[in-house]
Amino acid sequence: MSADSSSQEINVSDLVLYTNCPRRVYFASRGFELFSEVTASRLERIILKELSLDYPEIVKECSLNADNIYKKLEISLAKVCTDLPLLFPRELADVTSEIFEDGEARARAKIPEIAANLLGALEEYGKEPMLAALTPVKTEPFLSSERLNLKGIPSKLVCFEGTQVPSILKPGSCPEQGVWASDRIHAAAFILLLEAESGKEVPFAFVEYVSFGLLRRVVVRSSDRREVLKICREVEKIKAGFMPERKEEKFCKECNFSEHCISDSSLMSKFF
Ligand code: SF4
Repeated sequence: MSADSSSQEINVSDLVLYTNCPRRVYFASRGFELFSEVTASRLERIILKELSLDYPEIVKECSLNADNIYKKLEISLAKVCTDLPLLFPRELADVTSEIFEDGEARARAKIPEIAANLLGALEEYGKEPMLAALTPVKTEPFLSSERLNLKGIPSKLVCFEGTQVPSILKPGSCPEQGVWASDRIHAAAFILLLEAESGKEVPFAFVEYVSFGLLRRVVVRSSDRREVLKICREVEKIKAGFMPERKEEKFCKECNFSEHCISDSSLMSKFF
């Protein structure tokens, strides 16, 4: 519910929310819950994200054999599902066994594709580069920059070709090639933060599309950096109280703020 508390501090997650819909930043920054309940589809994403943390171990131990990877993924998935209530006790407190089983089944259905893609990448790039790109040297490090007025926690930092770079885990859909525009902004924001902390240029980041076992390298351009800075300024304004105009977004149908969003829009339309 509304806590009516605004803060000027910007998190990378605010930028991601902004790329979905600027109005979502407004509601989330005022204490409205982004998600109301854990559905089977959300649970599937949580399970697959957890499963991806085992990819380095699976890749390390596997021989180049699809059955072998498949079996290891199956074993890991069973372990993840057992551990999940211990990892997310608050979030999963009200999840029924039907939803849990449905979420688990949906995640399990993704295993053949994940196994095939991991195997394909192993054959194409080799085990050592794959391990370097997947294995964290730091997990969920806190990064911040006063100058950017930005903070955030990437899923991990990996050391690839002698450079520490951020890697983000994405449980959603995966584009045919490259990364989604919003993921490019997400990656660019962490690159800027890591550069601010390390004082060195960070040339690229990784995006792991965990529901597919696909890893994409993203080289950020000046235009991406410019876009991050622009969005930071927009988010600052929104957090200070500016409500962006309502546009029909593809997320509206499943948006937890829709009720407030529509009523606030009709209220505003009476005055303007
Ligand atoms: S209902 Fe649509 S416009 Fe309103 S906050 Fe949600 S996604 Fe944005």
